[in-house]
Amino acid sequence: MTTSSSPHLPSYISAENVGPWHIYLHQVDQVAPLLDKSLWPWVETLRRPKRALIVDVPIRLDNGETAHFEGYRVHHNTSRGPGKGGIRYHQDVTLSEVMALAGWMTIKNAVVNVPFGGAKGGIRVDPRQLSLSELERLTRRYTSEIGTMIGPDKDIPAPDMNTNAQVMAWMMDTYSMGEGRTVTGVVTGKPLALGGSLGRQDATGRGVFVTAREAAKKLGLPIAGARVAVQGFGNVGEASARMFVEAGAKIVAIQDVSATLYNPAGLDIKALKAYHAAERTLVGAPGAESIAPQDFWTVPCEFLVPAALESQINQYNAAGVQARIIVEGANGPTTPEAEAILAERDILVVPDVLANAGGVTVSYFEWVQDFSSFFWSEEEINQRLERIMAEAFGAIWQLADDRKLSLRTAAFVIGCSRVLEARLVRGLYP
Ligand code: NAD
Repeated sequence: MTTSSSPHLPSYISAENVGPWHIYLHQVDQVAPLLDKSLWPWVETLRRPKRALIVDVPIRLDNGETAHFEGYRVHHNTSRGPGKGGIRYHQDVTLSEVMALAGWMTIKNAVVNVPFGGAKGGIRVDPRQLSLSELERLTRRYTSEIGTMIGPDKDIPAPDMNTNAQVMAWMMDTYSMGEGRTVTGVVTGKPLALGGSLGRQDATGRGVFVTAREAAKKLGLPIAGARVAVQGFGNVGEASARMFVEAGAKIVAIQDVSATLYNPAGLDIKALKAYHAAERTLVGAPGAESIAPQDFWTVPCEFLVPAALESQINQYNAAGVQARIIVEGANGPTTPEAEAILAERDILVVPDVLANAGGVTVSYFEWVQDFSSFFWSEEEINQRLERIMAEAFGAIWQLADDRKLSLRTAAFVIGCSRVLEARLVRGLYP
């Protein structure tokens, strides 16, 4: 038995495993004493997922053999509404990672005040090893296996690393077949032809850029002419790089899984995107010098945007970071040890639960549009997104300033308070 006054680790997490779930727990523990006392009895609900499902995902390979993959879907908290969070396909996905990503979704959704709880899912698979039809079978079987967890008013998945609008279309179709009717609102990040939203593709990158711009204003740092280094050239990294360039900044370094590119005069993002689309790699891209992966972190720049994996900025490289502002496009890219080093060096960190919340914000718009079968213009979507991101940034900045907190702690105070206030008034069933 665990009571709210004697928390200990659940049996399914090893104390030695200092994975992302422990980083999430550390963040909650930092913030708990700062919350209103009336909420303290409920903090323990943030320290454990509401429910977690592990599924076997067997698929027929193109060569006729059967392969098995491990899949997960976690509902971290549903106090404020249905679960919401992406699906990741990656060879290193673990239950601990998915739990952490679900926990961060709970906080993030509350930070931007969309009426969702936090959820996340994933499959432990290297999707680069699968053909397109194997990927489709994997997605369909996984959707069927987690079918009891998802639904438009229960839990609504979206894309994350290595999943995209096509994967969402297969998920939506599989779920709809089971229901015997077309249920567009079961996933977001869908193609436009299936009730997807204008602006969703770029939404996370746009949110990253808006929060970077707001942070820069506070520090009196102009975006025009600023140097930016971006890790990850996928959905989040490419879109945020493009938006920095549109605002007059130059992208001096890009790192993805294949290469680390550097050009102090500025990389041509459009050309890199076209090169990557054709070659499926950044190796050999023109107009750039290739540098060692570890040198990416010491590139002279004003903005550093990690937009790939967790724990990329850590105790080993934080002391070398040259940026003035780090904007967390990825979830959990900075470890607590690194954060302490960065704070000491007066480097501002715009935290993931704020910086990358643009994706789920437009996912919320998509879900609302699907329910009402009435679709908004891209301009309307981008304006509403900008307003929500800028207001969330303003509220967090204000709280951080008033109480002398980091932006992450301030964001967690706001997010955790909203979740626990909902929990408090709901009371305990039965
Ligand atoms: P993606 O699959 O579109 O792109 C991932 C990028 O990371 C690729 O360019 C890949 O090459 C790069 N990468 C992978 N491993 C790497 C490594 N070891 N070193 C350097 N680069 C590496 O994924 P995405 O959707 O852009 O997601 C990136 C991050 O943003 C994840 O942390 C994700 O959880 C987070 N995020 C995504 C969204 C969204 O809407 N897609 C929303 C919020 C947060």
